[in-house]
Formats: sequence, structure tokens, C-alpha cells
Amino acid sequence: MVMAGAPGETEWTFELLGGRLCLDFANTVSGRRVTDPRDRLHDYAGLLSWGRQAGAIGEAQARRLLAEARRRPADAERAFREAIALREALYEVFLAFAQDRDPGKAGLEAVNAALGRALAHRRIRRGEGCCAFGWEEVPGALDAVLWPVAASAAELLVSGDDLARVRVCGLYESGECGWLFVDQTKSHTRRWCSMKDCGNRAKARRHYRKVKAAGA
Ligand SMILES: [Zn+2]
Repeated sequence: MVMAGAPGETEWTFELLGGRLCLDFANTVSGRRVTDPRDRLHDYAGLLSWGRQAGAIGEAQARRLLAEARRRPADAERAFREAIALREALYEVFLAFAQDRDPGKAGLEAVNAALGRALAHRRIRRGEGCCAFGWEEVPGALDAVLWPVAASAAELLVSGDDLARVRVCGLYESGECGWLFVDQTKSHTRRWCSMKDCGNRAKARRHYRKVKAAGA
């Protein structure tokens, strides 16, 4: 299924390395977040694409929401802007925790507002054994993709141990990467959002500096 907004446009593959849905959502901006951000979300169709890849919504729901968005483009644009505002609030809040700073009032208020909207649609479903949490199916609720994100943020914020393990990528200080993740290593020593990308980049740089120092 092609979820891209424009014909011929290919779907972006999101890297889901945060360990929590809310952090993967916050990580939809790459690059130098402050000075040269590369935003991977450009429109409502892109938001649905992320939601589907990250597991916030299912295939069928994504298709229904995309059709709804095409019928109501102005509402879809509003839902997209709301999503971006929530994403920025989540990023600020969890970055603050990663840096042992106070997250401030505004960010938590934004999370609470999103949580309130989400919880109105939280439902108990018959699942394996007995019951499981699910979400109400509301035809036309364009913000449904944000409900599991808000719930994920709330769960992480009250988690205690996991909240204390929220980290920002080791390349944050140099301004190259601002991705957030929960450090789930036993030794609590994960430094990079991705060893393959940022970890290797840092390693190559250390190696270069060593070689240069030895040659000087
Ligand atoms: Zn990184």
C-alpha cells in the first residue's frame, strides 16, 4: 500500500529506535534539530504512515483515516498541526528528563491535554484470557493516531525506572542528533540512538583524532 500524499512519492521508512512509541514519535525529526532539522513528517498522510509503521494504528485504520482526510483536507491539516505541536511538547519534556532538568509546566500541560482527549476513547476489549486495553473505533476521528502516543507518554512519565533511563543520543552535544531513547541495556551504558549510525560516526571520529594525534 502506498501511503504517500502525492502520486509517485515513496513512503519514508521511519527508524524506530526509541523503545517507546512516544519517543519514536518525538524522533521523527532528524539532523541538527535546532539549526538544521530534517522533519520526516510533512503532512497528514505522512503522519498516518508513521503511525502504521510504528504500530500506533493498523493497516485498515490507516486506510480509512487516509480516505477521511481526503474528504476533509482542512480538518486533516488541523489534525496534522496538532500532532506536530504534541510531538514538539513530547520532545521538550523527555529531553528535559534526559538532561535532568525540570520539564516545565507548558510541556506537561500539552501532554495532559492530549491524554485527556485520548482517554475518552480508551476501551476494554475482550482479549486473550479476559480483557485487554484497546481504543474505541470512531469513524472520522483524525486524531486517533495520537491516542496511543499520548498514552505511551503518560505511561513513560509515571514509570519511574524507565523515565530515569530516558537518554538523548551522544551526538546531541555536537548538535548532530537529538534522538531520544530508553536505555534498556543491563549495564545502563547505551550512548547512541543507533550504534550503526551515530555510534559508528562517533567511533570513526575518535579513531581519526587518535591517528591525527599520533601523526602530529
Ligand atoms: Zn543519534
